[in-house]
Order: sequence, then structure tokens, then C-alpha cells
Amino acid sequence: MQTQVNCPNCRTPFPTQVFQIVDAQRQPELKQMLLAGALNVANCPNCGAQIPLGAPLLYHDAEHELMMVYVPMELNLPMHEQDRLVSQLTKAIVDSVPQNQVKGYMIRPPQMMLSMQSFMEKVYETEGITPEMLQRQRDQSQLLQELVTVEREERNQKIADKADLIDESFVAMVQSNLQAIEQQGQNPQVQDVFVKISNLQAYLFKNTEVGREFMTAQVALAKFQKEAQAAGGLNLELLLKHLLLNLDNERVQDSIIRMGQQGIRYELFDLLTTEIDGEEDEARKEQMVALREKLLMLFESMQSQAQELMEKAKGTLDILLAAGQNLPTAIQNNAADIDENFLYFLEASINQAEQQGDSNQAFQLKQLQSGLMAEAEKQLPPEVRLINSIVKAETDDQLKMVLRQIPQAERPQTSQLLEAMAERAEESDPEAAAKLKKAKSMLLFL
Ligand SMILES: [Zn+2]
Repeated sequence: MQTQVNCPNCRTPFPTQVFQIVDAQRQPELKQMLLAGALNVANCPNCGAQIPLGAPLLYHDAEHELMMVYVPMELNLPMHEQDRLVSQLTKAIVDSVPQNQVKGYMIRPPQMMLSMQSFMEKVYETEGITPEMLQRQRDQSQLLQELVTVEREERNQKIADKADLIDESFVAMVQSNLQAIEQQGQNPQVQDVFVKISNLQAYLFKNTEVGREFMTAQVALAKFQKEAQAAGGLNLELLLKHLLLNLDNERVQDSIIRMGQQGIRYELFDLLTTEIDGEEDEARKEQMVALREKLLMLFESMQSQAQELMEKAKGTLDILLAAGQNLPTAIQNNAADIDENFLYFLEASINQAEQQGDSNQAFQLKQLQSGLMAEAEKQLPPEVRLINSIVKAETDDQLKMVLRQIPQAERPQTSQLLEAMAERAEESDPEAAAKLKKAKSMLLFL
């Protein structure tokens, strides 16, 4: 939902998105934003202030049969208003689920959370993160703040005192703080903090076990990335070389695999097997065999995932091809499955049909593709559609036909819209601008 916000800091008004429903399975990206504390937080385009929007929020997680709602106190909603809102949001969830998948917990009133903190704790719980773990994270973040505000000696003493909080995630927190500041660029205000955190990091790298491990891992990964860049991209030999270099460090190994997994091909296993056969050190050989197992499992699960996606796209394609005249309805009914993956599959199918010389199949698929585009255009706001058809009109007669469809009562308003759009397109697309101006003057004499 769009809403208008006034920045409390600089008073600039600007539009922003508010989300009232997060469905963990259907909109994993919204859940990620929620976990990152970025959901319903607006960024002022003028001064950059972050503004929490304080909106009601319903959370649904079908996998954990969890449905809960948080209505901020500061909204001061009367009880009956609140009830109405909550049942409205709940209904939206129930409506989005096929009838035979509606479950008891969806029909019961959702759990009411009294604070955002308890709300977030529930969400984290579904991720296997306990309130104790969250508390530890808060303690670590507070410790970090303390460490950068005190002088060196006191800092070192504190690190010794709070050794139980200095673990791998603390070191990672230090690192991500540095990266966040680096991304902000040359800001003199944070420069001082940056130096202090850098010093802290150097101290941890030198004087703590976790720090040393972290640094070793960073160095190994940077080396891998650098060589991949120099080679103009990742190749199997390079991937294997670095996996073998870090045979003793499973954490680095896993990071390298994550970075390179898209490039894994079957040849990698041949290369690795050759290495294993030539290895004389028994302990190393064992590690290499374990690595091969791990890679094989990953490779197979990636293969079957890709296979699944392809079969799903193929199923959707069959439905749409069979729809004939009912294509618009079929598109609506299968909207959730017509995603990027499907469009990619459709494009690939067209190419394949063309290569095989099956012009009939290629024609049908292309028909479907343009049908999809036409439907997508219908979903656009009417003003955008109008502008599109005007720009696309090839002759004056076509243009007149488009314009005649505009009801008399709306013409003055449309005329203003055309004027404004023409002005905006003047530099970027003079041809379109000229057409819009022509349309505007034609509109007067229709
Ligand atoms: Zn502002």
C-alpha cells in the first residue's frame, strides 16, 4: 500500500510503501526485510533519515502454523476499529489460501502481540533463534559500542573481562560495522569511529583465537576472489585449487563452495578424483574424499531443484497453451506461477523450437509470449496504458481511435496529463514527446 509520509527531520513529504501483511512462505523477501529491521521503515529522499512507520502488521507462517498480529499502541485505535482491522487482514490471508488448505489456526483470532519485541522474538523463534540468543546479540552489540568509546588500555581490559562474548559472531559484527561505514563513504563524522573499530579489529586479529581464525579465513577468501577476477571469472581448476588449499579449514571451504556453486560442473568430480588417486598422504586423501561427498550431495540437490523448476514451468506452459481463447482467465488463475523462471523457460522453448525448425510450435509459443505481454500491460494503471497506446499508434487514424475512447468528461484532465508527459519526454524521447503533443491538440477537435 502506498502512503504519504512527512519527514519528521526535514519535513519533506514523500510517498512510501507500507506493508500490513507478511506471509513468510509467499513473500520471503518481506520476511527478510522484517528480520533486517527494514520493513515499514521509510528512507527520507532528502535528508536520509530513517522513519519507522508504526503500521499494524499481520504475520503468517504456514510452515509453523503461526498467525499473529501487532497493532502499535501509538495508533490509538478504538477497540472495535482494531478488531475490524485485524479481521480484515486475517480474511486476506484466508482468501489467499485454496479452500482445501484452510486450517483451524487461520480461522481462530490471531495471537495479539503487545510489543514489536515480542513480535520479533516469535519470528526469530521460527528460525530457531531463541530469546537468549537475541539477548546475547544485544549484549555483544552493546559491548562493541563500549569498546569503541573507551581508551586503549580500558578497551583491552574489557575484552579480557568479557571474553565469553568475544566469539565468531562478535568478530563478524565488527567486520560488518566496518563495511557499513565504508559504504557510507567519506563522512568525517564517522571517520573517527571507523579508525577506532579498525584498531579494535586489528587487536582481535592479533590477540584472540577467534580473531586469528577469522583473519585466516578472510585472507584465504580474498585470495580466491582475486585470482578468479584475474582469470576473468571462476573456472573449475581455480575452484578445485582453492578447495584443496583449504582442506583443513571447513569454514573457508564452505564459503568457497557457496561462492562457486553456480559454476560446478560434472568435470569437477573427474578432476577431484584424479587428485585423490594421486594423493599419498592418507589423512589428506580422507579429507579429499569427504570433500567429494559434500560436493556431490550439493550438486545433486542443485540438479534436482533445477529439474523441479523446469517441470513446474513446463506444466504452466501446457496449461496456458491449452487455454486458447480463455488465455486471459488462464493467466489470471496461474499468475503465481508465471514468474521469472517461467518466462525464461518460455524464451528457451522458443529458441529450441526455432533451432529444431519447428515453426508451428515456435509460432504458438510466440503468440503466447505476446499474449502474456498484452495481459501484463492491462495490469498497468490506465494512464500508463493510454500513453503507451498513443506512442505506439502508427497513423493519425490509429491515434484518433485511441483518443475517441476517452470519455468527454475526462478529456480536460487527459489533456493536462499529455502536456505534462510530453514535457517530461522532451529530452529523453523527442519522437514520443511530439506524438503526445499531437495527441493533445487532436483531443480538442474530436
Ligand atoms: Zn528528511
